[in-house]
Amino acid sequence: MRKTKIIATLGPAVSSEEKIESLIKEGVDVFRLNAAHGHVEEHVELMNKARKISKGKRAVGIMLDIKGPEMRVSEARIRFAKDGDEVTVGMGGDIEINRPEAYGVIREGTRLLIHDGDIEIKILKKRGELAYGKVVRGGIIAPHMGVNIPGAHVPIEYIQKRDLEFMENMKDVDFIAASFVRSAGDIISLRKEMKRMGMDAKIIAKIENGEGVENIDAILEVSDGIMVARGDLGTEIPVENLPAIQKELVRKAMGHGKPSIIATQILETMIRNPQPTRAEVSDIANSILDGADALMLSGETAIGKYPVEAVKVLAKVAEKAEEMVTHRNLEELRGTISECVSNAAVLLAKEVNADAILVLTRSGKTARLISRHRIPMPVIAATYSERTLREMSLFWGVKGFMVEKFDYADDAVKKAINTAESLKMVKRGDLLVVAGGEPSGIPGTTNFVWVQLVGELIARGEGYGEQKIRGRACSDGPCEIIVVDELTEEIKNAKGIIVKSRIYDPELLKELASGGIAIVAGVGDVKIEGEINIDPVRGLIWR
Ligand code: PEP
Repeated sequence: MRKTKIIATLGPAVSSEEKIESLIKEGVDVFRLNAAHGHVEEHVELMNKARKISKGKRAVGIMLDIKGPEMRVSEARIRFAKDGDEVTVGMGGDIEINRPEAYGVIREGTRLLIHDGDIEIKILKKRGELAYGKVVRGGIIAPHMGVNIPGAHVPIEYIQKRDLEFMENMKDVDFIAASFVRSAGDIISLRKEMKRMGMDAKIIAKIENGEGVENIDAILEVSDGIMVARGDLGTEIPVENLPAIQKELVRKAMGHGKPSIIATQILETMIRNPQPTRAEVSDIANSILDGADALMLSGETAIGKYPVEAVKVLAKVAEKAEEMVTHRNLEELRGTISECVSNAAVLLAKEVNADAILVLTRSGKTARLISRHRIPMPVIAATYSERTLREMSLFWGVKGFMVEKFDYADDAVKKAINTAESLKMVKRGDLLVVAGGEPSGIPGTTNFVWVQLVGELIARGEGYGEQKIRGRACSDGPCEIIVVDELTEEIKNAKGIIVKSRIYDPELLKELASGGIAIVAGVGDVKIEGEINIDPVRGLIWR
């Protein structure tokens, strides 16, 4: 099972129901709708299609990417600028920017970068409203291209009119990706605005300039996750600093128990080619090793020639890279009761070599806190909230499913295990570590962790042998599993032996086990007959 989550941007290349269905089939966990392009109606239509197609299949999240104080070319009176050309920037000039506040920070020496830095203009002087610059790196200039002024703080209000329009029309999205977050204050003002309009999505802070990097600790406190938006970030800061900053941002997100997303140029060449480059494949693996929860495709799916193939490649490369991921040693983390119980669940799962961790979660928080440890076993998360189910689509290694609400933990766990079994997420004989909260239904009250077998536990004792077996048990007559009070003589031709007495000769049992027999000894005076299972490694007998 792949653990890294895949985000795909929807756009003209994948706007049909068939294409959206193929993307879901190939493993997309979250769809992004980028408010930078198109009309709000087009995005609403795409969102509705994605919701309709995923319904009843798999919980797929929807992320609305709002643009915040992002700057773009609003008017380009020259279409092409060559190196050395002189150009004017400002109202009525060769190039106009959609945020007039930008003109206030442009001065002699300013570096103006267009289209992720493909075009660079150095400002030589400012006369009145117009800035005069020289083209350092030329190219095509067109409206909508992104504009960056590295190092400048442009005093733009965080929430813009166009974003509000998108949010008003798409209140039901699961995530808001907040572009160009500069400080915790930006997130707080966005959350207030969302509350005002009755919107309840998780906020992913896109870190794409130096200010965002500097203020990452405070931003992580108030946001629900981050995106390392490498396109703009690599333009705003020296590009050679990007790998170290990516690692640092992901590490910090993990420390906060919040998901991180790596974005941009993940499989850039697959926009035109059916094959990725070796460098792209390595970058995906390295991002996963850094600790990213999810990787995001942008142009690859939105406008690319090979959108479905790109998802396939990403899924395959991610799954292979996950073989190299090792359990993160986060045991020094201490904090809330939820954090401590989540840490305990991870340690317990390791100690008992559990087959999976089952989380009962109202808000998804326990699943998120467990996920960050990057344990090898799956984390399956039962919730009765459809929204939480979709939000968990972003957490590394977490597979969510819906259950009915139960008041008591015992009932809730039983129901969750039955449902997980019917969904083939667990099977009889699996050993689970279960974590949850009682009373159930109150977010943030994770307070119990226990070990539970899938199936009806009949007895437990000291196990000898390597292989789980299943067969008919009886105390007299020819059976595959022989049940004896005491082992007085060597038993041959049995798949398994159960010894009730607590007094036995371990050396004899070891010898029998080395011949391939599964043994559990010292189980006490329990009635054992009929079709049963033995797990000699864990010393368990169950039906
Ligand atoms: C980025 O800059 O890397 C990014 C993801 O932002 P956008 O797609 O909005 O340009």
